Amino acid sequence: MYSNSLIELDRAHLVHPVSSYRGHEQQGVRVLTSAKGATVVDSRGRQLVDGFAGLWCVNAGYGHESIVEAAARQMRDLPYATAYFGLGSEPAIRLAAELADRAPGDLNHIYFTLGGSDAVDSTVRFIRFYWHARGEPQRDQFISIEQGYHGSSTVGAGLTALPNFHAGFGIPFDWQHKIPSPYPYRNPVGEDGNAIIQASLAALRAKVDTIGANRVAAFYAEPIQGSGGVIVPPSGWMKAMRGLCKELDILFVADEVITGFGRTGPLFACTEDEIVPDFITAAKGLTSGYVPMGAVFMADHVYQVIADGAGTSAVGHGYTYSAHPVSAAVGLEVLKLYEGGLLENGLRAGKRLMAGLESLKDHPLVGDVRGRGMLAAIELVADKAAKTPLPAEAQPSRRIFDRAWENGLVIRAFANGVLGYAPPLCCTDADIDAIIERTAKTLDQTL
Ligand code: PLP
Repeated sequence: MYSNSLIELDRAHLVHPVSSYRGHEQQGVRVLTSAKGATVVDSRGRQLVDGFAGLWCVNAGYGHESIVEAAARQMRDLPYATAYFGLGSEPAIRLAAELADRAPGDLNHIYFTLGGSDAVDSTVRFIRFYWHARGEPQRDQFISIEQGYHGSSTVGAGLTALPNFHAGFGIPFDWQHKIPSPYPYRNPVGEDGNAIIQASLAALRAKVDTIGANRVAAFYAEPIQGSGGVIVPPSGWMKAMRGLCKELDILFVADEVITGFGRTGPLFACTEDEIVPDFITAAKGLTSGYVPMGAVFMADHVYQVIADGAGTSAVGHGYTYSAHPVSAAVGLEVLKLYEGGLLENGLRAGKRLMAGLESLKDHPLVGDVRGRGMLAAIELVADKAAKTPLPAEAQPSRRIFDRAWENGLVIRAFANGVLGYAPPLCCTDADIDAIIERTAKTLDQTL
């Protein structure tokens, strides 16, 4: 049990990521104290179903002793080893090999980071190096998508297209460009999948023409736009965009920081989308949030150009904690759990989750229900026929989040009236049913 003094200490000293500092000072912190499976416990002893797996990351669920053991064993044996200077550790090497074995196509080269933002940041550096090595250093323009999220590093925040990651920071930079989101529920071309795909292809072509075909370095896409509001592009969209990038000789980066590691079903959403990108960025489910780690998957042809370009010189990119052995040991154990039944359970639970959310479609506030696997959202509207967003002054996100919490449910309530769901893959039927019942109760209280 925590006293008010902890709340005061938090208020005075802990700067919270992506928060209104003034709002937080008023509201105070909610503290979690323990967790098991898909259930988290707060400092008042309330048990909640974690419908968001922390921050879309605790894919395996909480309290796996085998993960704790793997980390403890590695800490005892070798808590740290650099991967600089030709050195290494067994778990990092083994994890790279296991991941390469499972990654789509020829994404055989793995560079480990500390999370998703620095994975995205690393791709920008690798891509610049790649085009220099190919003798085209003028290819320094990057394209991403409205409502996309690619982290909050200085360059990644510019590939991100959410306004509060830009305002006041002097980003995006003039080499960072956007095309419209393939957002079926709110798309000027309507909800037809083929029309959306054609519009995205035309938009990318037009953007490349405007910038100059020989200036564009890469295009970034999430298989499902997560932080933008769980926007699921039409089936075939990733394949079409990947194909166009190949035709235009632009590198294609699939940002799988959320969608990777079973979130949408398989280990990589790209497999379902039937594409092999030039890079995949991953994090979150890679270690299921137990310790920090991210990864950049690099295709053979990219790696060879970079390696030849550097020759005997060092490729000057790396961190003290790249390929950290404890994180890698956790990654290896988590991978075993995914393949030992968690992916399968996630698929089953995902079907129940989607069916449950669909059953809320008749609720007067629910405009849209969407998702894939254990990644889903409902979009709340003021008027269903006109798809009118909830009024700005009644932005419900904090109220709905608080209400859901009181009802024993953790969800993500986005500012635009979207409620996001990304429960642990270990959810039981009872967990999923509780998510749906508590959502329904929360919506009824919101009417
Ligand atoms: N890319 C995507 C698609 C993400 O969703 C996120 C985080 O949510 C990131 C990058 C950044 O990852 P991190 O928060 O681990 O830095």
